[in-house]
Amino acid sequence: MYCNYCGKVIQDDANLCAYCGRRVGAVMARKRLIRPRVGRKIAGVALGMSEYFDLDITVMRLVWLLVAIFTGVGFIAYLIAWIVMPEEPEPLPAPSHPAGVTASQ
Ligand SMILES: [Zn+2]
Repeated sequence: MYCNYCGKVIQDDANLCAYCGRRVGAVMARKRLIRPRVGRKIAGVALGMSEYFDLDITVMRLVWLLVAIFTGVGFIAYLIAWIVMPEEPEPLPAPSHPAGVTASQ
């Protein structure tokens, strides 16, 4: 398959692009509406929707907040989404890209 970001050919089962280091496999495989475990603020509903619809997480949180404040429906909708949306499965213990982790330290 091809990397979405740099366009180079990478392994079909790769999670990270070997050329630019971007996460590719997980994003392509994840076209389900789920609540991610990493990066969530409350229950991961807004984060999961932003990933599913390919929207910015800040925009998605603002939309949720505005709908909740001005209509009151947002609270109920969030609770329903919390219940309905499945949680992201536990990540595999295999280390994926140690170079990217140590680079920020
Ligand atoms: Zn790439």
